Amino acid sequence: MRRPASADFSQTNMNATTSPPGRYEQIFRLANDIILLADVDCRIVDCNECAVEAYGWPRDQIIGRTLADLRTPEARCHLPEDIDRLRTTGALIFETEHQSADDRRFPVEASVRLIEDGGDTWLLKIIRDISERKVHEARIHELAYFDPVTRLPNRDLFFDRLAQAVFLAQRDGAPLTVLLMGLADFRRLAGSLGDVGGQSLLMESAARLQRCVRAGDSVARLDGDEFALLLHADARGAERVAAQVLAHFAAPFETNGQQLALECNLGIASYPEDGLSADELLCAASVALAPALAEKGSLYRFHTPQLGLAARRRIEIETGLRDALARGELCLHYQPQIEIASGRVAGVEALMRWHHADWGWVPPGEFIPVAEDCGLIEALGDWALDTALAQVADWRAQGLALRVAVNLSAAQLRAPDLPNDIRRRLDRHAVPPEAIEIEITESMAMRDIDQARARLRALTDTGIQLAIDDFGTGYSSLASMKHFRVGLLKIDMSFVAGLPDDAENAAITAAVIAMAEALGAATLAEGVETAEQLAWLRAHGCHLAQGWHFARAMPADDIAAFCRERFSTLQ
Ligand code: C2E
Ligand code: CA
Ligand code: CA
Repeated sequence: MRRPASADFSQTNMNATTSPPGRYEQIFRLANDIILLADVDCRIVDCNECAVEAYGWPRDQIIGRTLADLRTPEARCHLPEDIDRLRTTGALIFETEHQSADDRRFPVEASVRLIEDGGDTWLLKIIRDISERKVHEARIHELAYFDPVTRLPNRDLFFDRLAQAVFLAQRDGAPLTVLLMGLADFRRLAGSLGDVGGQSLLMESAARLQRCVRAGDSVARLDGDEFALLLHADARGAERVAAQVLAHFAAPFETNGQQLALECNLGIASYPEDGLSADELLCAASVALAPALAEKGSLYRFHTPQLGLAARRRIEIETGLRDALARGELCLHYQPQIEIASGRVAGVEALMRWHHADWGWVPPGEFIPVAEDCGLIEALGDWALDTALAQVADWRAQGLALRVAVNLSAAQLRAPDLPNDIRRRLDRHAVPPEAIEIEITESMAMRDIDQARARLRALTDTGIQLAIDDFGTGYSSLASMKHFRVGLLKIDMSFVAGLPDDAENAAITAAVIAMAEALGAATLAEGVETAEQLAWLRAHGCHLAQGWHFARAMPADDIAAFCRERFSTLQ
């Protein structure tokens, strides 16, 4: 068999005339990569030691084979196109798969170039076994695209698959539906079960979901207790799968020898009705999931245009609210609280107002829940507290001794530093603690009663008065209020609205007033709109009243005038 002189290998990257040929021969023999020399028909004419080790044939059995013989059968068919590309470019780097004498397959990176020797052309091929690199790459892929707990695809991979499915649905009109699943109680259960118990719930959930889908559909774990299904089905097909999921989740879960019931909820969105992109579809499924999660029991909900509108409005509000503070669009209005016996203004409640540049006034009932959900409430709450304190200081400087009640949100109450934080703010504004009152709702106080009690005690220790807002709506007993040093109980306006004719509301209100008295707390009736309501409250010993019968919430400047008119606390 004819071969080029060994020194000619040097033409690939060295200058033959300046280096002795024997050295290249040695490099060729001992290199750590497989080196093959072949003729233009791809027949191997020489190889190095490394090739002998890698393929497991003696050198003289490698020589004489074709390059194709070293490839796996599947990779062999690509050889002609590789050679074609080599002919046009002169050099080529590519990945393929080789196999050894004992049929071991291994991925390789091959670099081939054409070399000239006299009138002849040869192929010089340097081959590197990249098995290890491929294992690493697979591991990195696994980490990047799969959830380590359930081994299901993660959010990124699900999104890629969904985007691909949307592309196919657009092209072929194939049906496509996304189901988003949330486990309502998962966080609470996982907290008490510990890491291992929580993970076993997730793995079991993954297994049950996989039993509900067909080959070609996808199940993924997006985050926490949120799973997603990609179904090649229309809404009706998806509904059948949703019903199956509910049925599978109805059976109890067994963890740590305990039997647990998990509530599961699904939001369903189909292409193209509910979204035209992967992003829109996921978003629509999440919008449909929210009301399903809010309702009791396991159930599924379809996305609807109305839900979509409400969700869009929420997003608009969130976006607007992020700029509202910086743009100075927020302000506080103050609603007088009247001492029923004397008719004097005892204090005011600070109520947040937002005037958006384009939308005008946005009611707090609309933006406060959004702020609570998206984490903006802390910043808004801090701002409200500072603004109210600055206002109190201002009124005091005018000789107006008014106590201001400030509404606190659940997130603010959870902040461990709250009592110190409020004390620092009082000091900064040189306002005594008696001049402010903190309102928390009954449900906030009852949610985490031990923590709340410690936190609120630290507050009341500083001399700040505590008011329980919306009392009567939180299903707690008045007796549970004895855990807190409540200065004021604010009777929710839903009870006041029925006075004096609604016997049940009247009985409840009378009982609350009597029991608050026993606890040493004052009572304030909210939402007093009529003279009849006021007369009833006076007759039953309610101390304070607040409502449109006296005044709506108004800007700070109007409060001074209102107080003066009422011969109030002007000293
Ligand atoms: P809330 O604390 O129960 O405030 C009382 C609400 O009842 C206020 O609504 C007030 O304007 C309204 N109101 C007062 N008198 C009457 C009446 O006679 N009839 C009727 N129908 N309504 C009356 P507003 O200002 O829309 O506030 C709604 C809710 O927004 C508040 O309920 C409170 O939960 C929240 N909020 C307002 N400002 C703040 C704040 O600064 N921080 C926090 N966390 N929440 C706030
Ligand atoms: Ca309030
Ligand atoms: Ca209230």
